[in-house]
Amino acid sequence: MEKITVIVPCYNEEAALHYYYKEMSRVMDEMNDVDFELLFINDGSKDKTLEIMMELAKKDSRVKYISFSRNFGKEAAMYAGFENSTGDYVCLMDADLQDPPRLLPEMLKAIREEGYDSAATRRVTRKGEPPIRSFFARMFYKIMNKISDTELMDGARDYRLMTRQFVNALLELKEYNRFSKGLFGWVGFKTKWIEFENVERVAGETKWSFWKLLLYSIEGIVAFSTAPLAIASLIGMLMLFIAFIFIIFIIIKTLIFNDPTSGWPSLVCIITLIGGIQIFCTGILGQYLSKTYLETKKRPVYIVKDTNIEDEKTK
Ligand code: UDP
Ligand code: MG
Repeated sequence: MEKITVIVPCYNEEAALHYYYKEMSRVMDEMNDVDFELLFINDGSKDKTLEIMMELAKKDSRVKYISFSRNFGKEAAMYAGFENSTGDYVCLMDADLQDPPRLLPEMLKAIREEGYDSAATRRVTRKGEPPIRSFFARMFYKIMNKISDTELMDGARDYRLMTRQFVNALLELKEYNRFSKGLFGWVGFKTKWIEFENVERVAGETKWSFWKLLLYSIEGIVAFSTAPLAIASLIGMLMLFIAFIFIIFIIIKTLIFNDPTSGWPSLVCIITLIGGIQIFCTGILGQYLSKTYLETKKRPVYIVKDTNIEDEKTK
């Protein structure tokens, strides 16, 4: 029988895990023509998440867990899941039931019968989300799609089912700064989009503050576009051009009218403006440089502290 590995990244999910397991069990019972492997990744939780995983593993042999030595972020958890998945199909799913397990049969059908390599989900509403967050999310997708070749779907969730081939392609991308939403598109293949209405988290709290999301979006832009670098050079050239015109204008004015230079306030304005633009552009450079710096270190994406997967222990 074919097998699906379901990867569930968990960070402080003690409140949601039981609900998740219950709902997922129901779906697994329903889908009796495939085997399942539930691969929980404990991303350095500070609560009882790991204990709950161990408990579940004891009573259900389909449950596997990998526990990190600290919080490495959801991207690292997903990567660990891919590396340790053994199924013919691999599914990514959040632990808070915001990715409804009931969509799984439809996703499997898309791959098995309709010839897709991957079935992904996107929410068509952002009900229950702060409006300002939705606004910035929309902006981000608009900008990203303009400046990057890789297409990003607005409202796309990480919740998706993939073939082994698709996952192997993702594993080929060994970069340290992982921005999966972009990587999924980058590897290509045929993806079916399944839409659903936003569901609110079953228990616990979101791990994404506005600040974290902002940093994540900068990471996405730096990882998938070099347009900001080009924009920085363009701004530089434009300023240079304007400065030239100014210089010529002032020289001629002084020669003809012998006009003593007045108006230092405007000078201060211009200096601060140009200074600001310079620092801004250096900042853009710095973003790329810092990412390059981290890549060259070749640090592992995650470190495992505890697991019930045999070969992972002996590694
Ligand atoms: N998560 C994780 N590591 C982190 C942050 C989040 O593994 O550092 C997991 C979290 O447990 C959840 C999923 O990623 O299963 C999505 O997180 P969350 O529900 O907080 O995000 P939201 O749905 O609000 O975007
Ligand atoms: Mg969530």
